[in-house]
Formats: sequence, structure tokens, C-alpha cells
Amino acid sequence: MTTSNAIPTVKLLIDGEFIESTTQDWRDVVNPATQEVLARVPFATAEEIDRAVASGQKAFKTWRKTPIGARARIFLKYQQLIRENMKELAAILTAEQGKTLADAEGDVFRGLEVVEHAAGIGNLQLGELANNVAAGVDTYTLLQPLGVCAGITPFNFPAMIPLWMFPMAIATGNTFVLKPSEQDPMVTMRLCELALEAGVPPGVLNVVHGGPDVVNAICDHPDIKAVSFVGSTKVGTHVYNRASQAGKRVQCMMGAKNHAIVLPDAHKEQTLNAIAGAAFGAAGQRCMALSVVVLVGEAQAWIPDLVAKAQTLKVNAGVEAGTDVGPLVSCAALDRVSGLIERGVQEGARLELDGRNPSVSGYENGNFVGPTIFSGVTREMTIYQEEIFGPVLCVMAAATMDEAIELINANPNGNGTAIFTRSGAAARHFQEEIDVGQVGINVPIPVPVPMFSFTGSRASKLGDLGPYGKQVVQFYTQTKTITERWFDENEVGGPVNTTINLK
Ligand code: NAD
Repeated sequence: MTTSNAIPTVKLLIDGEFIESTTQDWRDVVNPATQEVLARVPFATAEEIDRAVASGQKAFKTWRKTPIGARARIFLKYQQLIRENMKELAAILTAEQGKTLADAEGDVFRGLEVVEHAAGIGNLQLGELANNVAAGVDTYTLLQPLGVCAGITPFNFPAMIPLWMFPMAIATGNTFVLKPSEQDPMVTMRLCELALEAGVPPGVLNVVHGGPDVVNAICDHPDIKAVSFVGSTKVGTHVYNRASQAGKRVQCMMGAKNHAIVLPDAHKEQTLNAIAGAAFGAAGQRCMALSVVVLVGEAQAWIPDLVAKAQTLKVNAGVEAGTDVGPLVSCAALDRVSGLIERGVQEGARLELDGRNPSVSGYENGNFVGPTIFSGVTREMTIYQEEIFGPVLCVMAAATMDEAIELINANPNGNGTAIFTRSGAAARHFQEEIDVGQVGINVPIPVPVPMFSFTGSRASKLGDLGPYGKQVVQFYTQTKTITERWFDENEVGGPVNTTINLK
């Protein structure tokens, strides 16, 4: 179905049907390289949210009892369908989000890995048993699904992050209501279509679109048992508080300021390549982007080399071959990032490379900012304190590795960090002393693969358990502990007469 001006509308998914919202409140989904309106996305009504949750509740009655092998086989099929449709998924993603086609395939692929992991649910959702905890008594645990769970996702990984959430929630026997980012919901919806094609039954996966009102309705809804959120620290803190108040289990993965330490003994060329990719790739719109580099001692002489490396990156639309840095997601993001660069200049940081207003032939209306580098950045500056979420790198200096570690540990965020060095002893010291949840050693973006969990820490996360891996099986299940005693009929003198006992 389309609206009167022939722009396609994004559908809701309720009870296995893709339906047109009845809302009066719509937003445009815009191609950030061209400003073309690709679709219109509805902000769902309260009644539509209730219907999505009710559909999940109804489906839970049978889904929770569906054998674990049957659940696993759906994800085996699903991973195959995602692989077969990879190019189409990446093209949708690039059109609405802006990142390069290669990055878009990476976005889908990192989600696909979680789907593959969900297909192994039979080996993950296992309880424990202790035999003979007292005479004739055994104790064991069941990991039972919670009911209807919900997910709220950000714009920057519209394939990977929804796939962090609903496959593992559903594989563990829950039903799900997803609220994708309103900025780029189209690839998420295509992934939901493929999930239904793979065999996810009606009502097990539902999707509602919207903004703050829909998110608040999810936080408050009495029939939603758990909420997974990924997005900014401000919104995540609100979601955590509001949904926890309503008695839900909540996990929030939030904003970041990720530092890399460069020791003078690091392999120079590899380190500069790694930093350029991690700081400017995906236009810096990654929660694990390296946005601060701390050059230790003689490595401070590397700034001109870093600038030269950044200048080799090509700024262009994500669909164009050879592009390294695509546009920012929206005009608002462009204004915000440009404003923060201006603020950095005003506050006295040295603008070594100014990426503002690059000329991008054929895409003059795109939201482009090229790689931007500040040196002489200090802790008080706004560009250090705020998550810029653009291709802007802050370079700081430290006399020793311990001084750099102290700086990182004093920063409130704890999503990711990295060290570049050839010294095993230095790397081990860093690994032990650094207070950040995900650590890279000569690896700039240390996002764990799904047999581990995403383990951002401190202000980058609220809730104990992270997405995917073993931790998320705990998050999406309730542990029930059974203590049982069976009398050995040979020892107690024959079968117990239950008829008499029950009277
Ligand atoms: P965002 O917080 O603006 O939006 C996230 C979700 O919250 C969206 O679905 C949005 O519709 C909703 N939302 C927005 N404003 C709201 C409000 N006032 N009340 C209720 N809901 C609201 O985040 P974003 O801009 O889409 O994504 C970028 C942020 O996400 C960055 O801070 C980034 O670091 C973070 N992020 C973190 C991780 C992680 O794993 N730690 C991963 C990806 C992105």
C-alpha cells in the first residue's frame, strides 16, 4: 500500500500481518546522500501497540512449548535466507542510512552471526543439575522464557542491532515487539519479512514504529516482561529507569567515548591504518568508533602521518565504488557535528584537518563531513566530553602509559578501548589496569563475536547482562530451581497410596 503521493509506507507487523498504520503521525525516511524521501514511517497509535503486545501474549502460549529443536531449525533457515538476500539488504541499508555498501554488508553480517548462534540454542539454554544434595534429593534448574519482550534500536546499525535482539529472544522461547529506529526502519522490516519466511509463527515477532511516545508505552506496558535498548546514554538512562520502575528486566547499551593508546613501539603503518578506519569509517557513527587517540611519548610526533592517512580517505555516497566515508544520517546530525567542530576551535583545540563542507560531486545535498582531526585536546573541552558521533578524532598527549590509563579510567564511559604496542608486557598491564568493558590489543574495534557477549561497562551500559552470547540467554530467561525427592519404593515399603494421601 502507498500513500496518496505515491511514497511507499513502512508497515507495522502485528500477528503475522504487515499492516498499514491508522496513525495521523508520519515521518519521512530520507536518503542521507541525496535527501530523496524513500518512504514514510508511521508513529504507531496506543491501540496498535496494545494489539502488538496482545498478539505476542497469545503466541507465547504455544511458542514457549515449541520444542527447542524446532525453534533452532527456524534460525538455520533464517541464516540461509539472510545470506541469499545479502546484496539486497545492503542496498536498502545504504540508501536509508548512508554507510558504504561494504559497511552495510558488514552490518548485516555481524547480525547474521547472532542468527547462526541462535540456531545453536539447544546447546545454550541448558540448566544445571546437582545429584543427591540431601538423601534422595536432587536439585536442578530450568531456564524458562519470560513472555513478551521488547527491543528499541538506534539508527547506526539497523540490521545488526535488531538481530542482536529478536533472534535470541525468540530462540529462548519468548515472543517479541521490536521498535526500530524511525530514521532507517526499512532494512529492519526486510529482515522481519525474511524471519517470517523462515518460519517464525504469527505473533512471535511484532514490529511497531515510532518515537518517544511508543518507547514510553513499551516501558510502561504491564504485559511486557523485558526491554533491550541500544542507543544514546540520555534515552537509555530514561528507558532503564522507566521500564525498571514498571518492574521489567532491562538492559541498555548506550553512548561512548572510546580511547586508543598508541605507544611509541607500535607498528606505525598498521596502527595508523587501524586508527583511520576506526575513527572515520561509517562516518564515525559507531558506538565503538575510536574518537580519542592518546599518543604516548615519542608517538606524539605521528600527528602529521595521521593527518596524511586521513586525507587518503574518500568521502562520497555509500553506493559509489571506492567510498571510505559516507554521509551522516541526517541534516540534524550534520548541523550537530559541524557545531561541535566549531566549538572545538573556539575552545582552543588545534584543527589539524578540517573535514567540513567537502565537495562531493553529484551529491551536493548530502550530509557529508570528511575526516576531521583535533590535536591539543584537553579534558575540559566539549569535543572531549561529548560523544560527537561523526568522523572527528581528538588527539591527546601523555608522557607515560600510566598517565594515559588514568585519563581513560577517569572518563565516565566504558564501551571500548584499544592499545597499540609491540610489547606483550605493556599490553598485559593495560588489560589488567584499564576500567573498560571491551579491550583491543592491536585491534581497534574489539566487538566480541557472538559466542561471547557485548560487554560495554560503566556509563556505557545499564543492567548486568549484555546482548547476545551466554549472557543474553540469562537475560531472556527466568531460572527456576527445582528440588525434588523421590522415594525409592524398595526402601519405603511399596508404592505410596496417592488416593488416600490426597483426601
Ligand atoms: P537515540 O537514543 O536517539 O535513539 C535510540 C532509540 O530511542 C530510537 O529507537 C529512538 O526512536 C528512541 N528515542 C529517541 N529519543 C527518545 C526519547 N526522547 N524518548 C524515548 N525514546 C527515544 O540513539 P541514536 O541516535 O539512534 O543512536 C546513536 C547512539 O546509540 C549513540 O549514542 C551510540 O553510541 C549509541 N549506540 C550504542 C551501542 C552500544 O552497543 N553501546 C550500539 C549502537 C549505538
